Amino acid sequence: MSENQNLNNENFQDGNDEECETFEEQLYFECPICNDITPHELIKKVETKKLLRYTVKCQDCGNVHNIEKRCKLQHLKVVVSRYNQSEQFTVDIPDDEKLSVEDTIEVKGENVEITSVELEGSRRVESAMAKDIKMIWAKSLDVPKKVNISVSAGGITRSFSVLVSHNQAFEEDQIYRAGELFFRIKRIKAEKGYFTREVARKIVRIYSEPVSPMRDFIDLTDYVI
Ligand SMILES: [Zn+2]
Repeated sequence: MSENQNLNNENFQDGNDEECETFEEQLYFECPICNDITPHELIKKVETKKLLRYTVKCQDCGNVHNIEKRCKLQHLKVVVSRYNQSEQFTVDIPDDEKLSVEDTIEVKGENVEITSVELEGSRRVESAMAKDIKMIWAKSLDVPKKVNISVSAGGITRSFSVLVSHNQAFEEDQIYRAGELFFRIKRIKAEKGYFTREVARKIVRIYSEPVSPMRDFIDLTDYVI
């Protein structure tokens, strides 16, 4: 038994104050039965965001026990928006976890997509480690996405919105129906520019023109709000 292995083992046992490091292949642990540091066999490894748990077996006495290491957590403020309303939460995220815009995280059971990462001094960045983040801005993915649609002809524009799944795709030149109105998509404005095809969660507004009723169309009537 070397001093080094002994020391590592102690760090691991009361690792609450330690950074959440990747566990090294260390097969000497303290066995509660032998009451000694003994060689162990790794049986099972469970790794979650908050916890590393190893199920190990003492090679001297055969005792199977668990060894846990918790990560240092950062209490992060998250502002979750759903349509025009927002709500603030606090979530625990490991210090060394990198969070980026467009990442999906779970906040109190709700799936949200990160829209902005704010550091101290109100500086906004594309991504940062949890320990450097002051606040996260996000939008809920668990409520339907509100998509704004404009239908224009001869200087007259009708605008309405539909509530659809975040993954609902819209496509240029495709014919859609909303009640009595049939229309063809001309342009799709997304957060990052114009696209010929885009999913609802990224769409800012859809521009279209009215057409005569057709046989092939996608019916949005039930989703109009
Ligand atoms: Zn033992």
